[in-house]
Amino acid sequence: MRLWAPCILVALSAPAASVNSYTKVSDDTQASLLALQRDDQRVAGIAWRIASRNADSCPKLWASIGVSLQHVSQYAPAYRASAQAAFGLDDSYPSILAVAEGSPASAAGLKPNDTVRAVNGVDLADKSRGQKSTASYDAVSAAMAALEALPDQSTAILSIERGGQRLDVSVTPQSVCRSRVELAPGDAINANANGLVAQISGRLVNWVESDDELALVIAHEMAHNLLDHPKKLNEKSALSGLATSLGLSGKAQRQMELDADRMGIIMAATAGYNYKIAPDFWARLNSNAPLASFLATSHPTTRARRENAQRVVDEIGSKNLNR
Ligand SMILES: [Zn+2]
Repeated sequence: MRLWAPCILVALSAPAASVNSYTKVSDDTQASLLALQRDDQRVAGIAWRIASRNADSCPKLWASIGVSLQHVSQYAPAYRASAQAAFGLDDSYPSILAVAEGSPASAAGLKPNDTVRAVNGVDLADKSRGQKSTASYDAVSAAMAALEALPDQSTAILSIERGGQRLDVSVTPQSVCRSRVELAPGDAINANANGLVAQISGRLVNWVESDDELALVIAHEMAHNLLDHPKKLNEKSALSGLATSLGLSGKAQRQMELDADRMGIIMAATAGYNYKIAPDFWARLNSNAPLASFLATSHPTTRARRENAQRVVDEIGSKNLNR
């Protein structure tokens, strides 16, 4: 089970285990799935640029090749046939959902929809295939973990299948900021982080007006993970005897949001995105957020958010940055 830290605008009803499952798509399912994959590609490219260009100052690093995977079992049964038709998904092996632009995977020639059969000879078949009657993220999570366990700077061999042909591809992981970033299909404008994974909703990806804005969102969620906010928030909630992050930890959470904004703006700037839009962007997002009133105690006011962002922008501009 994943514990999610409510973030910018998040529903407290945390995603279930099937976090990456597509349970609701339009009538034209295949076209919707392919459109989501294009969004996945966009998110992966921006996340890679942020994670790689900030590696020198990140509090947590890991070795990554820059791909996200998918598996047929993450789809609700009603959508599995469409997903298999759209992506050519195998029954038991994961396949590449997105390849980050500029990553080692991209340089090695790996492509979306490649089936990944083995990593360094370790077979990635899902042993529970055919058992699951509901969408489950277990198989894709296990496959991602196998990739994320690869040592830095040591060449790995991915055994893939593409168009009926088997290929062994050599790829060398690179040390980058530690956070998985993924797109979560959904109609709500939200994003969240659980310490390992940052999720950006499909609606939010389409709500932002530029890659610069999306970079601020992605970097903010990465910052939550890099600063261990989900864990700290859970500890606070446990201490105060509350099942949620409301009440006594509200003040702590408001500070975490401002801290994640700060670190996120710095990371976006380091990655070469236009960070100067941050005060207006966070104010616009904050005031458009369909926040339930009960969440208001856990989130900064729009004014506090704008002022905090402006301070960071000014510091970066004056090169007087205190990381
Ligand atoms: Zn946040």
